[in-house]
Amino acid sequence: MTKANAEPLTAIFRRLIGSYGPISLLHYMGESNARYYADKDPLGSAGDFITAPEISQMFGELIGLWLADIWMRAGSPVPVHYVELGPGRGTLARDALRTMKRVGLEPQVHFVESSNALKALQAEAVPDAQWHHDLASVPTDAPLLLVGNEFLDALPVRQLVKTAEGWRERMVDWGEDRFRPVAGDKPMDAAVPDALKPADEGTLIETCPGAAAVMHEIATRMAAQGGAALLIDYGYAEPRTGSTLQALHAHTKVDPFAMPGEADLTCLVDFTILADIARNEGAAWLGTVTQGDFLRALGIETRAANLSSAAPQHAETIRRATDRLIRDDEMGTLFKVMGVTGPDWPQGAGF
Ligand code: SAH
Repeated sequence: MTKANAEPLTAIFRRLIGSYGPISLLHYMGESNARYYADKDPLGSAGDFITAPEISQMFGELIGLWLADIWMRAGSPVPVHYVELGPGRGTLARDALRTMKRVGLEPQVHFVESSNALKALQAEAVPDAQWHHDLASVPTDAPLLLVGNEFLDALPVRQLVKTAEGWRERMVDWGEDRFRPVAGDKPMDAAVPDALKPADEGTLIETCPGAAAVMHEIATRMAAQGGAALLIDYGYAEPRTGSTLQALHAHTKVDPFAMPGEADLTCLVDFTILADIARNEGAAWLGTVTQGDFLRALGIETRAANLSSAAPQHAETIRRATDRLIRDDEMGTLFKVMGVTGPDWPQGAGF
């Protein structure tokens, strides 16, 4: 927990910038989110944003079914570990584990989580979980059934911008009473892929070293231990340029530079790079599909109809939740689902 008298992040950043000059956006976003997640539960209607497992139990149940299905077709290996990255309130894990248990899948549960406030909520939802700071300490002895929903988008990005002098890293400076992005003074041309080097002035590219490192570890584990992973996030599956940095506070978009540590800073996930990393490490990439197509393929509409007929008084709520998860103008298209497995594992449903 952050103590009530902890120095505000704004003051820390201002002092750093005053002493050493602008800080990188990577540093700004990393520290802001570490502070943001440390001491509060940002999820739900009273928080800053809402996620798919908090919208409906159907989300976690269908993820659980997907994992159980591929696990059974892989020969039902035991032991097996359920690993979740950034489990939030533990809702997805609770719903998925309940569904898996019905078909005899009872994995050991491992949560990768940095926030003490959220760990406490996760312990209520899934009392027998074990917690880890990162994937490195997750066991290496058995296949992993791994899920990460809205985890990668919170990891800090580096931005490079093409200026008249060449490529520069995007930094954060303090001036005119506010934080603002500026181009750094060190040449960064060596960090830019050849195809993008001649881009027009003003072109901006974004990379997420943390997401790349996590994907590298997941793919290495899949190749060595076997298993299946689903990474779900808002993002893009074709290369693109431009900043995708945004900040959410109380369900409203705010200036990412206005309140560091008080708003959730996120970026779209670059699924193209993640697929390349998975394949390079010897894992099987099942594909990257939209959340809408994935959930429809797993039968969300049938599941919603069954729930509604069992509880007609909730039919309208269930219909509304289903729409939010799958409609193109809601989460259905912007959110993607990427599947990765061990090289000898079967194809996953919905890809
Ligand atoms: N998956 C949940 C929560 C998404 S919010 C859901 O869908 O509702 C992001 C989650 O990732 C939170 O649990 C947050 O505390 C965690 N998190 C963010 N950055 C992290 C980091 N660097 N290491 C570990 N966990 C992190």
